[in-house]
Order: sequence, then C-alpha cells, then structure tokens
Amino acid sequence: MKTGQDLELVSLTKRYGEALAVDGINHHFRAGSYACLLGPSGCGKSTTLRMIAGHEDPTEGSIVLGGADVSWLPPARRGTAMMFQNYALFPHLSVSDNVSFSLKMKGVDAATRRTRAGEMLELVHMSQFADRLPDQLSGGQQQRVALARALITNPQVLLLDEPLSALDPFLRIRMRAELKRLQQELGITFIHVTHGQDEALALADEIVVMNNAVIEQAGPAREVFNAPRTEFVARFMGGHNVIALPQGHFAIRSDKVALTEAAAGRLDGQVTGVEYQGAHVVLTVRAAGDQEVTAILPEEKFFENPMPQGADVGLSWDDAALHPLAV
Ligand code: ADP
Repeated sequence: MKTGQDLELVSLTKRYGEALAVDGINHHFRAGSYACLLGPSGCGKSTTLRMIAGHEDPTEGSIVLGGADVSWLPPARRGTAMMFQNYALFPHLSVSDNVSFSLKMKGVDAATRRTRAGEMLELVHMSQFADRLPDQLSGGQQQRVALARALITNPQVLLLDEPLSALDPFLRIRMRAELKRLQQELGITFIHVTHGQDEALALADEIVVMNNAVIEQAGPAREVFNAPRTEFVARFMGGHNVIALPQGHFAIRSDKVALTEAAAGRLDGQVTGVEYQGAHVVLTVRAAGDQEVTAILPEEKFFENPMPQGADVGLSWDDAALHPLAV
C-alpha cells in the first residue's frame, strides 16, 4: 500500500451563487495523521471534504496530494476515498460485492475481487458476513462494510463525513476506537468531519476548527483544547470559561478555577448552581460584571468545604492558566 503523501489545501474556496461556503482556506495535512474537521453545522466542513474527494469542484484554489495538483481529477483517480454518513451500500448486492464494486468497475476479474474483498472484510472484522445483503446487517456492521468498500481502493487519504452520527451512543464509542485502530494499522491519513468536540478530542492527532467558512484554529488536539486562540474556539471546545478582565478577554479551563472565601479571590461572586456529577462537582458562579463562571472541583475537594447555592465566594486561579483571546 502506498503511504506517506501530504495533502495541501491552497486558498481553497467554494461559492454557491452569492453564498460563500468555504473562504480561501489553507491547510497542510501531514501524511499518516488522523485529522478532524470540527465546527458547527453550516461552517463549511462537508463542502471542504467533498472538494478534497472530487465530488465538488472548487471555485478557486487547489488541492495538492503528494505534490501533484489533483483539484480537477475525477474522484477515483485522486488517491482519496470517501465514506459517506448513510454508508450508501447497494441493497441488492452482497457484502462482498459491495466491497469489491470499485474493482469490478476497473475490470478486475471475479476471483481477484473476491480475494481482495475477503482481505478488506478481515481488516474490519466482517469476514463471516461476506454473503449477506446490507439489510441483514446492523448499523454498525453496515458501517464496517462501507469502510471496507472505501479502503479497497488503497487510498492515501480516507475521507469520513460524520461517520458515527447514525450510530447509538454505545456503538459510537466502540466504532470510534475501531476507526482509530484502523488508521494506525494502515498508516494512511484520515480526515474525519464532525460537529462533536468529544469525538474530535478522542480521535484526532490534529483538530482543524472551522467557523463561518474559514479555519479558526488548527493544531494538536491538546493544544487546541488547552490554548484556544479565540472566544469561539474556547466556547466551542467546551470545558472553558471566557472571562473579561481589565487586561482583556481570557479563556480558562473550568477545572483550573478554584473557590476561596469571599473577597479573597480575583473575582467575587455568588454560587448560582451546584451539580454533583460523581467524580467531580460543577459549580456555577455569577461573578462581578454579570459574568457566569463555571468551576469544576474534584468531589473530595468540594465536600471538604461545601458551598451551597447562594453562598458568597471568591474565584481564584494561577495566571499561567489564563489564555489571552484574540477579539
Ligand atoms: P457543514 O458541513 O459544516 O455543516 P456545509 O459544508 O454543508 O457545512 O455547508 C456550508 C454552507 O454552504 C452552508 O451555508 C450551506 O447551506 C451551503 N451549501 C452547502 N451545499 C450547498 C449547495 N449544494 N448549494 C447551495 N448551498 C450549499
């Protein structure tokens, strides 16, 4: 299997009439990495993915894979493969024939197709279902078939559009681990579109946060989570407060905010909510300037000195935990 080619988006733009779906984005996806395109609905994630796949023409800019401009190549000749949200399996074809369909289109003989489909089904742990029809499979099993069908073309880059959204929460977490295992085993690049920050944090080597048709921030998952550069990223990634101080706006993780006696902290406030969540307790505090601040305390810490709703408290933190935000 060929691996090891970087994918670059160069000033990539898509307009639908007057509407700007993707606005001149630049990004370098490193070969062999697991990248998540993360952002709210309508921010341009799927359009970006479809342009990479070749299912949508760019209005401007280009897509470069391994140094070659693939922007205008048909999908099957790019070295990319796409796994769709609804799996798009052919209902009248067996699992094996679904998986090897693209080989049939290329004129590969039946025996070779069967062998290659068998290898791919083994990879996704579906060997025993080769002769079933798609509607004789569960949602999770159909998804494995769709993955095998995308991978049989030996892509350099696998594109996944909200691949877990049709699954129930339990299966979603299992398939998440399965996707990560496959990506590591194959060593190819995965680009996975999601609107779920938990999913992106769990899977991605690199998170690319999009908002309003542009890339708002990109970097390793821990960096994007711990050091959001904008208010949008801080709020969208969750787990953070955005605090206005005389020096400007800052993000601070909720678990880095400590409670003190009233008037002994950096900000004063009043507890407006206490929520016990097992391992930790989530407190909501209405602080000066009508700002709502969330503090997450380990449960033992909270119960050493419980603060009831309505209590006057101070909020404190270590300055190193503050991240200045660009306006
Ligand atoms: P996301 O995947 O982040 O939810 P999309 O890439 O699907 O966002 O859409 C980005 C923007 O482009 C949205 O405003 C959407 O309405 C618009 N859009 C997407 N596809 C089309 C289309 N085929 N025709 C017109 N507008 C579209």
